[in-house]
Amino acid sequence: MPSSFKTTCCYCGVGCGIVVHKDRQGRLTVEGDKDHPVNKGMLCSKGMNLHYTVMDTSDRLLYPEMRYSRNMPRQRVSWDQALERTAAVFSRIIEKHGPDAVAFYASGQCLTEEYYVVNKLIKGFIGSNNIDTNSRLCMSSAVAAYKMSLGEDAVPGTYDDIEQADCIFVAGANPAWCHPVLWRRIEAAKAANPKLRIIVSDPRITQSCAMADLHLQLHPGTDIVLHHAIGRLLIEQGKTDAAFIRQHTEGFAKYRDMVMQRSIAEAAIVCGIPETQLYEAAALIGESKGFMTMWTMGLNQSVVGVHKNLSLINLHLITGRIGKPGCGPFSLTGQPNAMGGREVGGLSNLLPAHRVLDNPAHRKEVQAFWGGRELSAKPGLTATQMFEAMNDGRLKAIWIMCSNPLVSLPDARFMEAALKKAKFVVVQEISNKPETLQYADVILPAAAWTEKEGTMTNAERRISYLKKINDAPGEALPDAEIICRFAQKMGYNGFDYTHPSEIYNEHCRLTAGTNIDISGLDYSRLREKRSIQWPYKAGKGTARLFEDHRFYTASGKAAIHSFDDQNNSEQTDGNFPLVLTTGRIRDQWHTMSKTGKVSKLKQHIASAFLEIHPEDARERGIRQNDIVEIFNGRGKVRVKAQLCTTIKQGVVFLPMHWGKILNSDLNRANNLTNNLVDPISKQPDLKFAAVQVVRF
Ligand code: SF4
Repeated sequence: MPSSFKTTCCYCGVGCGIVVHKDRQGRLTVEGDKDHPVNKGMLCSKGMNLHYTVMDTSDRLLYPEMRYSRNMPRQRVSWDQALERTAAVFSRIIEKHGPDAVAFYASGQCLTEEYYVVNKLIKGFIGSNNIDTNSRLCMSSAVAAYKMSLGEDAVPGTYDDIEQADCIFVAGANPAWCHPVLWRRIEAAKAANPKLRIIVSDPRITQSCAMADLHLQLHPGTDIVLHHAIGRLLIEQGKTDAAFIRQHTEGFAKYRDMVMQRSIAEAAIVCGIPETQLYEAAALIGESKGFMTMWTMGLNQSVVGVHKNLSLINLHLITGRIGKPGCGPFSLTGQPNAMGGREVGGLSNLLPAHRVLDNPAHRKEVQAFWGGRELSAKPGLTATQMFEAMNDGRLKAIWIMCSNPLVSLPDARFMEAALKKAKFVVVQEISNKPETLQYADVILPAAAWTEKEGTMTNAERRISYLKKINDAPGEALPDAEIICRFAQKMGYNGFDYTHPSEIYNEHCRLTAGTNIDISGLDYSRLREKRSIQWPYKAGKGTARLFEDHRFYTASGKAAIHSFDDQNNSEQTDGNFPLVLTTGRIRDQWHTMSKTGKVSKLKQHIASAFLEIHPEDARERGIRQNDIVEIFNGRGKVRVKAQLCTTIKQGVVFLPMHWGKILNSDLNRANNLTNNLVDPISKQPDLKFAAVQVVRF
C-alpha cells in the first residue's frame, strides 16, 4: 500500500517538517510539510533530495566487522562477537588505566535518545565524563554565552519573531546558504514589511548580503570591536533602555566604561569598514522596536567565541530588546539536534537537563535517578582534547559515533596521527566513506534517518518526533540499541529498554523542576502533536522565554559582561600573510557522507576551491582556475583558484566539506586550521588560520 509519513529533516537546525511518501515497491520521495510551523511546506535543496540518501544503499555498512590488528583485513562478525570483544577490551583498559582511559565522541546528528543512553553509560556506569560531540565545534561558544548572560543555555526567541522584527542583524553567518528555509522566511518578512532592515557582518559578500540593507565587511576576528562600537553609539545617542538596564540587568556601568575606551574612528579602522557604517548600524538598531540578532560559526568558531557572543547579546540587554515580540539574540544551530544533545547532558561538562558537573547536588540527583556509580566531578575531555590525549597516550580507546572527525576537526593531520596511536577504535557509522574507518578495530553499522524512531530539538527549542519509515539495510541497528546492547555486555543494569519511547520518557522525568521542564510531555503526547517548544508548562509549549524579564541567573537579572576586544587568533606574518577562513557551501552537508552521493547536489559546486581577492592573486601571479597551493606549518591544500571581489583583500576562503579523494587529502581545509580553542567554551578557532598561497 502506498503511504505517507510526517517526519523532520535530519540536516540543519532549522528543523523543517517533511512528508515522506512510500510507494508499493517501498521507494521513497519527499516533500515539505505544509502544516509544519517551521517551514510551512518549504524545503531547501538538501531537504528536497533527502530520499536519495536513504534509497541509495551502495555505500552503507551492512554488518559488524572487526580485526585483531590494523594490518589485517576486517572480517564480518555477528553483533554478539563485535560487542563482546568491545566490552572485553573496554573492561581491560578501564581496569588497568581507569575509566578516563576510554571516551565516546558523538554527534549533533544523533537523536536525543541516542545521546541520552551514551551519556548515561559513560557518566553513570563507566565512571568517566569523557563524552563530547561535534557540537563542540558548532555551538559551545553560544551555550557558554547564554549561560553567562541569561543564566541558562536557552535561545530566548522563536522563529515567529522574524515576522515581527524590524531589524535583523546577521553576524558571522550565511543563512541564505546554510539555513535556507529560515532565510526564505526572512525574505518573505521583508517583502511583506519593506521597513524591515537587514544588517550582515561578514568578511565575504555572501548570498545573504544580497538582501542586506547594510553589509559590514569587517576584518576576520574583529567582531567584538564592531559590537562594542555599536554599543558605544547606542549609549551616546540615548538609544538604550535605562529602565530595563536598571531593573533587569547587572554590569552596565563597567560595560559602558569598557566600550568608551575605543573611539568610533579607531573601531572603524580596526574592523576595516567605513566609520559611517558604524553609525548606520547603530541607527538601524537604535530605531527598531523588534531587534533580532542571528549568528553561527563566524562568532562561535573562534578563540574568543564566547566574548564575541556576549558582545552581541549585550546589544539586546542595553536596549531591552529581549523577551518581547520580534526581539532577541538567536543563535542558529548548525546541526539538527545539537540542542537535544545538550538537553540530555551530552557534553563533557554537562549532566542531564542542563545540570552541571561541578554542582554536587546535581551529581547526586542524577546518580540517584540512574542507580549507577558515583558520578565523577572531573570534567571530561572535549573534542580536541580527546585527540590530544590519544596523542600522548592518556586516552587508550575511543568510540566514534555518527561523526567524521578526521575531516571536521582542526589540524586534521595531527588528529589523524593521534587516532593512529589509539589502542582501540570503535566506529559506529552508516556509511563506508568516513576517513575514521581505516583506523577502526571494530565497525558497527548504524541505521539512518527514516530507519529508526526518536526525537530531536531544533534551534528554536522545538522538540520534534521522527518516525521509523523503512527498515535498515543488512544488520544495521539504531544507534541507541547498539549502545544499550553494549552496556548490557558490560554488565550494567538500566539499559534494557524495549522501545525509544522508554528512553525519551526517562529523560523527560529527569527534567522535572528544571528550566527545560518537559516532564508533562510524554512520548505519546509528543507523537500526537509532532513538535513542541520547551519548556512545557500547563499542557503548552513555550514560544518565547523571558517575557517577564526574569532571567535564570541567581539574581533574576541578566548579566552584561565586560571584556576587552582583543582577538587572540594566530597572527599572520611575512611567511603566512593571509587569513584563511572556512565554511559551508549551499548544497553540501558537513563531510558529504550523505549529500556527496546525490548527483543533483554536486551540480551546484562539484569540487573544492579557493576564493581569493584579485589583488592578492595578482601579487602571486595567480589567474582564474589556476591550481594553487595553500600552505602553512601544519599542512597544505591544493585546489583551483576562484578570483572574486566578494572576499576581503588579505582573506582567503576554503569550503570545509571535502576530505580524502582517491587517497589524496589535498582538498581538506582542516589540513591548515589550528587547534587553538576558546578558553571558556573549548570551541576551536576554525575561522582563522595564517596561510600563504602560491601558484602550483
Ligand atoms: Fe533541512 Fe535545514 Fe534545508 Fe530545512 S533548511 S530542509 S532543515 S537542511
